[in-house]
Amino acid sequence: MLQIDCPWCGPRAESEFSCGGEGGIVRPPNSESLTDAEWGDYVFMRKNPKGVHHEQWRHASGCGRWFNVLRDTVSYRIHATWRIGEAMPDAEGQAAASRSNA
Ligand SMILES: [Zn+2]
Repeated sequence: MLQIDCPWCGPRAESEFSCGGEGGIVRPPNSESLTDAEWGDYVFMRKNPKGVHHEQWRHASGCGRWFNVLRDTVSYRIHATWRIGEAMPDAEGQAAASRSNA
């Protein structure tokens, strides 16, 4: 079974976690001036890369907190986990995720 390193609790079984989709999405600061298409992109459109992806996960059966994960969608390998609000740590695969989130 895969283990995920919760930034607060440490390594726990994957079954304790739930994935919340793409991470690092920031609400546009001028949302009232966006077109319907631009707002729709912000609300609904998500990346679905084959490879390293920045995601948000929740330790649902543990501390209940949300955190960031850098995960490879092909191998399922987790390169890094870090708390919301912290900078992405240096990790293998980071450059690929930055490119896919650009
Ligand atoms: Zn936790």
